[in-house]
Amino acid sequence: MIKIAKLIDGTKISQDIKNEVKEEVKKIKQSTGKVPGLSVILVGENPASKVYVGSKQRGCEEVGIKSESIKMEDTVSTEDVLKEIDRLNNNPEIHGILVQLPLPEQVDKDRVLQAILPEKDVDGFHPVNMGKLVSQQECLAPATPSGIIEMLKREKINLKGMNAVMVGHSEIVGKPTSLLLLNEWATVTICHIETADLKMHTVNADLLIVATGVPYLIKGDMVKEGAVVIDVGINRITKDKASPGLLEWRKEDFEKKGATLIGDVDFLAVEPKASHISPVPGGVGPMTIAMLLSNTLKAAKNLMGIK
Ligand code: NDP
Repeated sequence: MIKIAKLIDGTKISQDIKNEVKEEVKKIKQSTGKVPGLSVILVGENPASKVYVGSKQRGCEEVGIKSESIKMEDTVSTEDVLKEIDRLNNNPEIHGILVQLPLPEQVDKDRVLQAILPEKDVDGFHPVNMGKLVSQQECLAPATPSGIIEMLKREKINLKGMNAVMVGHSEIVGKPTSLLLLNEWATVTICHIETADLKMHTVNADLLIVATGVPYLIKGDMVKEGAVVIDVGINRITKDKASPGLLEWRKEDFEKKGATLIGDVDFLAVEPKASHISPVPGGVGPMTIAMLLSNTLKAAKNLMGIK
C-alpha cells in the first residue's frame, strides 16, 4: 500500500488567517474610525521584489489594511532611505513599515533596518525584535518563521519534545525559525553549508524544515518515516533545466509559462515517507503574506492601545 502524506495546505490556512485579520480590522474601524496602515519601501526595479510588493499590497486590500508603496530610484543613498523612514516613523496613520530586500549595494541595509521604529517593524528584522525573540518577550517576529509555526499549530502538530532539524541559518528564515521552535520546546538542530554530514541529522528529524534555496537538496533517503516536512525554498526551474520527471509532473506550467516553482525538497521522493508535507507552491509562501498582515494588525493594535 502506498502511504500518502497529509498535504499542509498553506493557501487554505493563510485564507483562514486573512479572514480573522479582516474581522479584527473591521472591528477596529467600527470602534475607532481608523484602519491599520502599512508602508512598503521599494528601491529600484528588481522584478521579483516588484512581484512580492504587489502581492503584499493585494493582501492588504483583501483584509482592509491601508497600504502604500513608496518607490525609490535605485541610485538613492542610505540617507535618502533614512529620511523616508523617519517620515513614516512619525506618521501616526502608518503602523507597519517594511523595506523590501535586497537593497542596492550603496544602501546600508543594517542602518536602514535599524532606523525603523521597532514598534512598526512588521518584518521583525530590527535587533530589538530579534533580541526580544531570543528572550521570549512579546515582539513582532519575522513573517515566514511565524507562518511556519502557525501552520504547524493549526495542523495540531505538538512541537514539544520533537526532534526538529532546521536546514539553513539565514537571518530571515533559519535563525528565527529555530528560536521559535525552541520557544515551543522542540529540540532543535541547525544545519548549514558547513554541516559535515547533513543526512546524519535529517534522517533523525521528526520535524524537518528546509530553507536553503537549493532545489531538491533533500532526497527521499534523507528523511525519516513519518516525519513532518516543511519546505520553505522557492526555486524557479526553466524547461531546459528540468528533469524528465519534473517535466511530466509540471507539464502544464512548462507549457504555459516555460518554467515552474519547486522547493528544496524532492517532493515526489519524500512525500511517500512523510506524515505531513508542505508543497511548493501553496505551502509556506502564502503563510508569509498572511503573517505580515497579522503583524501589521498587531502593530496597529499596540500603537493604538487596543488590547
Ligand atoms: P539564504 O540564501 O539567506 O540562506 C540559505 C541558507 O541555506 C544559508 O544559511 C546557507 O548556509 C544554507 N545552505 C545553502 N546550501 C546549503 C547546503 N547545501 N546544505 C546546508 N545548508 C545550506 O536564503 P533564505 O533563508 O532567505 O531563503 C531560503 C529559501 O527560502 C530561498 O529559496 C528563498 O527563496 C525561500 N524563501 C521563501 C519564503 C517564503 O515565503 N516561502 C520567504 C523567504 C525565503 P550558509 O549561509 O552557511 O551558506
